[in-house]
Amino acid sequence: MTVSGSLFCTKVLTTLSLDALVFIDLKNIRYCCGFTGTDGAYIFTPQVDYFLSDSRYLEQSRQEVSASSHICYQNKFDEIVKTLSDLGFKRVGFEADTLSVSQLQELTKRSKKQFEWVAVTDDIRPLRSLKTSTELDLLQQAADLNAAAYYEIEHLIKPGVSEKKIAFELEYALRRLGGEDRAFDFIVASGPRGAMPHGVASQRLIESGDFVTIDFGTRVEGYHSDETITLGVGEVDHDLRQVFDIVLKAHDLAMAAAAPGVILADLDAVARDHIKSAGYGDYFGHGLGHGVGLDIHEYPAVSGRCFDQLQEGMVITIEPGIYLPDRGGVRIEDTIVITDCGNRALTKIPKKYRALA
Ligand code: ZN
Ligand code: ZN
Repeated sequence: MTVSGSLFCTKVLTTLSLDALVFIDLKNIRYCCGFTGTDGAYIFTPQVDYFLSDSRYLEQSRQEVSASSHICYQNKFDEIVKTLSDLGFKRVGFEADTLSVSQLQELTKRSKKQFEWVAVTDDIRPLRSLKTSTELDLLQQAADLNAAAYYEIEHLIKPGVSEKKIAFELEYALRRLGGEDRAFDFIVASGPRGAMPHGVASQRLIESGDFVTIDFGTRVEGYHSDETITLGVGEVDHDLRQVFDIVLKAHDLAMAAAAPGVILADLDAVARDHIKSAGYGDYFGHGLGHGVGLDIHEYPAVSGRCFDQLQEGMVITIEPGIYLPDRGGVRIEDTIVITDCGNRALTKIPKKYRALA
């Protein structure tokens, strides 16, 4: 466990009067002790931490995991309960966002009321939000791969080429350059399909006069990149071209405003108010952005409903958009890290308007 992770978890234990925290979320487990496998558990106490897995992961965990104790189980929930019982604990926290109702019932049944299970929600969500320099380095590497792969395939963005072809070539380039996997199903939305904020690549062929929105990313050692560009192909309709400028301005205003101490809802409002004042408020239906790290979407949400403050070390996206039914859309997205006095963009593809011939 990193020093900052350990301090964070210790604070959660103190705040909620807990004896231990049980993790089953694989990204949290990876963060806490380095395990990259697909099944396991992790128990945190300030004195000792435990990593639990089945025999398939014995060798892997020996190589990867930093925890004071490794336990091999036949049944995960039996072993979690046994470990906690042996320690004589009274109150044990679990990740309420991850543990299912039936899993909680299993744990409760097996622990026979020896201790109380406490659902932890808001207190645990920020666990991974402040990135270390090592994490920032990996996020930067992933963002750099985005730019390198994009410039390799940019020549394909032209009339007659399908959205799927662009998505595939982009994914291939990212993998070939060293990315682990695609971060999500790439969005390549051209022409009227740009009106769908999550229009995954289709067989539609790009036409002259289209806007093409491409939202893509990869992973380096588990850490994601996330970036969206919108560009024109040929001469784009005047109204849509203006929509681009409105979205870009909203993006630039939010990029200029993101700094430590800023309330996330206020940052969302910076971009949203600009889009509203231009008359397109009804066509920007999603939040301004999200945290990025081991998960492509993680705490904090950059939305009107999140009143937490930005802190130095947080990595978030800024991604305003306008989506006009039957006509098309524009989204522009960068991933940034909050610094001591402002922010720095990790993603590097320029976002100003460009039209490819
Ligand atoms: Zn994205
Ligand atoms: Zn995003």
